[in-house]
Amino acid sequence: MDPVIRFNHVGFHYGGPWALRDVEFTVGEGELVGVLGANGSGKTTLLKIADGLLVPQKGEVFLKGRPLSIYSRAELAREVAMVPQETHFHFAFSVLEVVLMGRFPYLGRFQFEGRRDMEVAREALAATHSTELAERSIYELSGGEKQRVLIARALAQEPSLILLDEPTSFLDLKFKKEIFDLISSLVHSRSLSGLVVSHDIELAAAYCDKLVMLKHGRIASMGSPEDIVTSQNIEDVYGCPVVVDENPLTGAPRVSVV
Ligand code: ADP
Repeated sequence: MDPVIRFNHVGFHYGGPWALRDVEFTVGEGELVGVLGANGSGKTTLLKIADGLLVPQKGEVFLKGRPLSIYSRAELAREVAMVPQETHFHFAFSVLEVVLMGRFPYLGRFQFEGRRDMEVAREALAATHSTELAERSIYELSGGEKQRVLIARALAQEPSLILLDEPTSFLDLKFKKEIFDLISSLVHSRSLSGLVVSHDIELAAAYCDKLVMLKHGRIASMGSPEDIVTSQNIEDVYGCPVVVDENPLTGAPRVSVV
């Protein structure tokens, strides 16, 4: 079976130096892959390429076996949904309205949402434990609630692949865990695939099936969290000395800055 997404020797630049070089990996169905790396290592660029917002100058991306470049915008939005790093709304939309925005790839121009769209939106709210927020204004939500709603909006696209750009960066520890719990259970229970950029190495290691570490746009290491989260790899990529041992309760890698 084809992987949901395949990066095939992908290279990308913004007109200057290469932001991504020879990037090659796959995300399979029901797999959650974490992307780690220092600032400027190419993580967001990688997500934008997967979302069709940027087109690589080298190599190719395949979505379910077909070149991503031949998908129309609407077709792509029915397969890939992005939860961006920062989302600002310029109007006090209700949570339900925000989630319904995820239905755009299914609606014609000037077409209003129908019963099925409402059902999908309600289901996405339920799946993200956000049903009770439906009538609230998006402005009134806490960081963790807003992140759940943005994940619900992505789910309303009924995608095969969900992309998340640092979904936990503005959250405190409890909500970071809650969001990773949610992403992991959604991906694993729905045969969805997930590609998540994160600076939370331990959480990514605890929840992801596979990790990809980027350094200066290249894959520095890739594999299971146990194999990838080593003091050597982390020092190499982040330039910071750390000690890695095992979390005594979960067995997941534990990272301490020296
Ligand atoms: P990360 O998400 O890991 O912080 P990015 O993908 O944002 O990294 O950036 C990778 C490289 O591309 C960096 O060197 C950055 O300066 C450069 N870059 C990112 N966005 C742009 C842009 N719009 N124009 C020019 N260079 C960019």
